[in-house]
Amino acid sequence: MKHALPSEFTNLSELAHNLWWSWSPQGREVFSYFDPTLWRLTHHNPIKQMQEIDLNRLEVLRQDVVFIRKYTAAMKAFHEYLDAKDHWFGRTYPHLAGGTIAYFSAEFGLHRSVPLYSGGLGILAGDHLKEASDLGVPIVAVGFMYNQAYFRQVIDTHGWQEAVYESVDRGLMPIELARTPAGELAKVHVRIGQREVACLVWQIRVGRVTLLLLDTDSPENSPEDRQLTARLYGGNHHTRLCQELLLGIGGVRALRAVGYAPQVWHANEGHPAFLLIERIGEGLKQGLSWNDALDHVRISTIFTTHTPVPAGHDVFSADLIREHCQWWWEELGFTQEDFMALGRHPEYPSDHFHMTALAIRLASFVNGVSREHEHVSRKMFQVLWPGQTLDQVPIHSVTNGVHVPTWVAPEMDVLYAKHLGSDWRERCDDQVLWQRIMDVPDAEIWEVRRFLKRKMLIFLRQRVRLGWTDGTIDPTQVLAGGALFEPHPLTIGFARRFATYKRAALLFANLDRLRAILLNPWRPVQIVFAGKAHPADQPGRDLIHRIYQYAKAHDLGGHIAFVEDYDMHVAKFLVQGVDVWMNNPRPPLEASGTSGQKAALNGVPNLSVLDGWWKEGYDGSNGWAVNLPPVSISDEEQDALDAEGLYSLLEKEVVPLYYDRDVDGISHGWCTVVKQAIRTVAPQFSARRMLKEYVSRAYAPLLDVQALETTKQKLA
Ligand SMILES: *Cc1c(COP(=O)(O)O)cnc(C)c1O
Repeated sequence: MKHALPSEFTNLSELAHNLWWSWSPQGREVFSYFDPTLWRLTHHNPIKQMQEIDLNRLEVLRQDVVFIRKYTAAMKAFHEYLDAKDHWFGRTYPHLAGGTIAYFSAEFGLHRSVPLYSGGLGILAGDHLKEASDLGVPIVAVGFMYNQAYFRQVIDTHGWQEAVYESVDRGLMPIELARTPAGELAKVHVRIGQREVACLVWQIRVGRVTLLLLDTDSPENSPEDRQLTARLYGGNHHTRLCQELLLGIGGVRALRAVGYAPQVWHANEGHPAFLLIERIGEGLKQGLSWNDALDHVRISTIFTTHTPVPAGHDVFSADLIREHCQWWWEELGFTQEDFMALGRHPEYPSDHFHMTALAIRLASFVNGVSREHEHVSRKMFQVLWPGQTLDQVPIHSVTNGVHVPTWVAPEMDVLYAKHLGSDWRERCDDQVLWQRIMDVPDAEIWEVRRFLKRKMLIFLRQRVRLGWTDGTIDPTQVLAGGALFEPHPLTIGFARRFATYKRAALLFANLDRLRAILLNPWRPVQIVFAGKAHPADQPGRDLIHRIYQYAKAHDLGGHIAFVEDYDMHVAKFLVQGVDVWMNNPRPPLEASGTSGQKAALNGVPNLSVLDGWWKEGYDGSNGWAVNLPPVSISDEEQDALDAEGLYSLLEKEVVPLYYDRDVDGISHGWCTVVKQAIRTVAPQFSARRMLKEYVSRAYAPLLDVQALETTKQKLA
């Protein structure tokens, strides 16, 4: 059913077409109040909700003064936000107000209704944009409009993950076709091998930031080419290379077509690195020499690497590169050798093209995403700087953080507003402000935590009830989904991609010992798991299968649950609702990790091996750390040691502390850990701290250099 909104509500469409609503309590409230049930049924998609709203409900809303008041206030806040001239970036760098920074990423996790992400990398990119918007950092972003996105995870009765791909309805997404300054539809072409592939350019508004999305699903393309941007990380090396050519080359051209002239370019991970060669080409066409063109690219490029595993970096063979890119070096007047040399990595055969090596070679600021990851990356890429010691390798780190308004639970928001002040969001990276959390009465924080746990349990039940009612799941799957979970027991959360290095089954190393912990009648414990494995990752799928069997096992008594289809929505309920967040990757393979930061922001302490962000976040009082085993032991020995570490922490510290209650049923010791977790993690591991760091260490210095260059040119 589609109908026009009454005229007094037409601005709702404007609100729905800017994702600002998704991290503004006022914006969210407008849509959830609009029709709370429909809001749930449309999976929090405001555009879908407006299309399906019942005419009678609209009539009621027109008369509803409470709604009118909320709506008017939200629209006012929205416009004030968009029009604000006074923001952090402008105040701090008034002379850089005219700059533009282009941010490229293969995925963006912004909201569940915009499924253009698979996991951590995308959500980080989404948080980056939202925070840039809040701080007034002049970013414009480029990514893909995936038609089928990443897959939806369904677990079959035997516990095997199935990957379901569904096409999105572009009409239900907050996107519109981008236009050139002359008002025509922006469209760009990218040559791949012998053919020209056309890309439509969509745009999506993220507060004050614009994100351009490339889409090859356009009638002039061949059926195969129309599918090129259908899936995130789908297909083989061939598809992957085509996608990366589209993102790099097409991305630069899309920005130009829409009228942007970025001075600084930031590649998030190696996927967009071809943008650097496209820009070398631009330089050559403007008459720069080869070396000057390279230098120009270098002094305006930032590259962030996220992958501490060598196999995680894209490497293409010379044959594949020749097939797709020969036209490119011919057009630019350079040789295949010159081209291949840009992506050479000394540890690979010379006929391989390494995307990360390309990006590192052509960036002036290269960073990993935690201090530990900086060290690992230096070791991995030291070979690119022959003769340099580890200390001299110019790779830095900016530790990841999370966008606070997106990830904070509404109930915690209220608590923070009450105790830290109503402007706490504006000051969320201020460590001094967060000291005040220590003065919050334990009873108050305990009550909010209890409430959030119940909210999560209701969510788990709703999910399995839906499957049960549809007839898509059997009774054992109802149990495996958490139907036997209780509000009272200590509840541990573990949710992440099921890659083997994340060791999701570590806690099952000794089943008797685990059973004793879970089923202790005086101090019961339950654990909720969630996460997807890449469909091609059989060991990852095996792990899910194994955990799912435990979730169904009689002798674990329904104290293990597996929630299907981990996404941003599920993540919110879990990081806000459990009591402890567990993480046990094999060090040093977790570059940063961000889910534990989301948890701590909501008063959920971490229990984690010391790796990634936790290595710098743990201070002895704000959670629990599994000690690092001595270096150079076998994987099996390390697994055994880490499992032992987890068990003994649970048995001796975590569980006893949680159940150490006073007459009112409150554990004051627990509340202290909760407060320490909030106090230490919330400001330091916020996207606000992260973005300010990117600005002060990379964006602003490079923008300054560009401004200087321009002045020099004018004087010359
Ligand atoms: C935060 C988040 C991640 C990243 O979490 P890690 O700690 O890096 O594993 C992945 N997926 C979703 C849905 C998230 O919300």
